[in-house]
Amino acid sequence: MTQKVLITAGPTYEPIDPVRFIGNRSSGKQGYAIAAALQQAGYDVTLISGPTALPDPDKINTIRIETANEMLEACLDTLPADIMICAAAVSDWAPAEFTNHKIKKRDDTTAPVITLKENPDILKTLSNHENRPALVIGFAAETENLEENAKTKRKRKNCDWILANLVAQDHKKVFGEDQNHVYLITADKTEDWGETSKTDIAEKLTRRITGFLNADE
Ligand code: C5P
Repeated sequence: MTQKVLITAGPTYEPIDPVRFIGNRSSGKQGYAIAAALQQAGYDVTLISGPTALPDPDKINTIRIETANEMLEACLDTLPADIMICAAAVSDWAPAEFTNHKIKKRDDTTAPVITLKENPDILKTLSNHENRPALVIGFAAETENLEENAKTKRKRKNCDWILANLVAQDHKKVFGEDQNHVYLITADKTEDWGETSKTDIAEKLTRRITGFLNADE
């Protein structure tokens, strides 16, 4: 039977007012590459994507959303799935209130204060869901103590595998590149996959997933 995979990718946009939002620099490239590799390997892929400059990939059911809450809702609507891969850079916070008109500059030059509220953690929610996919994979971008932080994250989020990458502290080098250097962290080991293209990582992950599912049968 065809295995169903759910992938989140890209950033989320959290609206402040009709023209402004809180977002991040995620390009979506890694998540889209994983979606394409799995589709080519015969998986039934649903891609839930935040706003990106990338076109909808061929032959993949792509659902476009903007906010973390919409992403979570789309994930829950897509369950059940056999595999879940959370590659999205979900905003940890959103403005507590949406102002339904463009916030204007004030005559007295005081700046507006934006109060934030925490967004749902999609990876954690799905990992603890009663319809939890058999294999749940998350990402961890760390600026220091990569292995230790990623191991802690794997446990805290209750996911099976983490693809961890050490990101440069220079924000211009963090997102949008075609290359990546990841470590695969499972319950019992850490593997260095070296510096390679996001497409290579996607193909390697696809082979690992297929190997895992076959070993399980
Ligand atoms: O906690 P942190 O943001 O570093 O965790 C990264 C992992 O958690 C990624 O897999 C990301 O897609 C997922 N995540 C999520 N929902 C959030 C925050 C992170 O699914 N609100």
